Amino acid sequence: MVRLARPLENLIDQLLRLPTIGPKTAQRLALYILKLPVDEARLIADAIVAARENVFPCSQCGYLTDTDPCSLCLDTQRDNSILCIAKESSDIISIERTGYNGRYFVLNKDFRLLGDYRLDELDLKPLIDKLASGEIKEVVLALNPDIDGEVLSRYIADMARQYPVRITRLAHGLPVGGDIEFADEITLRRAIEGRKDF
Ligand SMILES: [Zn+2]
Repeated sequence: MVRLARPLENLIDQLLRLPTIGPKTAQRLALYILKLPVDEARLIADAIVAARENVFPCSQCGYLTDTDPCSLCLDTQRDNSILCIAKESSDIISIERTGYNGRYFVLNKDFRLLGDYRLDELDLKPLIDKLASGEIKEVVLALNPDIDGEVLSRYIADMARQYPVRITRLAHGLPVGGDIEFADEITLRRAIEGRKDF
């Protein structure tokens, strides 16, 4: 039986380690990379290493940055009285598009109820310091509307309640273009709870 060249096999194996990449996609990407000029292939490889070496969570808010504090924390135009708690930096990018102009705290942990770390392993010290400063009046929980997000939200809310802050969470509702008939029970219940004047 014919084998793939060792370096090609190795590239496929490495690509397979990435999330959402299955064997077929890994093979397609590897073959695509082989057709690139060497300089372009090197740009991709260098970008991976440079990002890994130079990007880290901001010590104040957890947003992925290459300067500490990050540009969001240094922005003096933002509202210091409102703090949005999100799971990942990618969530911040989405929330920024809405025009939200408060502060952030990013957990950077992919919490899973059945996963391998406990809630008390979360490093909430920077968050506690922020709450203790007295500047924050509202904490917005912007975690995913699933069981894991729910458990995490309750855990953080219980901690935040020790401080005089209003605790809110994103209203969850029906997706635009969605069909009530096909909405799952949790989504529909949240949509009813989060109803507004019309
Ligand atoms: Zn920051």
